[in-house]
Amino acid sequence: MFFTGSPENFLEIRSELLKLGFKEKTLTQFRNDFARLDFHPSSNREYDGREVGFYYSLPHGWSVFIWTSYLSHLKRFRKNDAGRALILDRDRILYSVKINRGRNFVRNLIVNAWILQVRVNERPICCACEKYMNIATKKTGAHYFVCVNPAKHEKSVSKDWDFNFKGVDGGKHRPKALEFMELRRTLRVLSRKNNRKKGYDVGGKRFQPRWEIRKLENRLN
Ligand SMILES: [Zn+2]
Repeated sequence: MFFTGSPENFLEIRSELLKLGFKEKTLTQFRNDFARLDFHPSSNREYDGREVGFYYSLPHGWSVFIWTSYLSHLKRFRKNDAGRALILDRDRILYSVKINRGRNFVRNLIVNAWILQVRVNERPICCACEKYMNIATKKTGAHYFVCVNPAKHEKSVSKDWDFNFKGVDGGKHRPKALEFMELRRTLRVLSRKNNRKKGYDVGGKRFQPRWEIRKLENRLN
């Protein structure tokens, strides 16, 4: 079922994100970002204005970015769109989750914002060289934390992507978050299977930017 949403739904998202410590992006920030990144509206998308975004930044350079797909100037959610939760290293996208506009959209968006905030707040430090670790992706699309520092250790050091939820490697145990992620993964597998049966394209879950990113180094690849 597609979630059309109401201004009240947006206010709930806004209030929960502000409670978590997120800030709403201002018009000036949008303009500065787009100028700095050399963003241009994608030619294959109809442009219906700026959607509301929230961010949460830390001094180590990582931030969480939430795209709500809500158009405040029209007081409605964008038609046929999804929400996004991203981890960025300054301008570069390190990780992205698409939040489909289904029945549980509001809750999924808020919980994903919180999960990504935990990952950023508790960014791991390498046990061998004490530098901040980075995010890497396996061929399967699964993520993990890694430190590659040949000056200090010959072999790269890695950590489980969910260590701050599983209670391993010095992370906290957060069973409810694990349950939520497990359910999300199961649903994703099921819907892929279902789509494949129907003959739909079930290719990657890559971030499809609304903007054409002309600076190559800022693209997610
Ligand atoms: Zn290291």
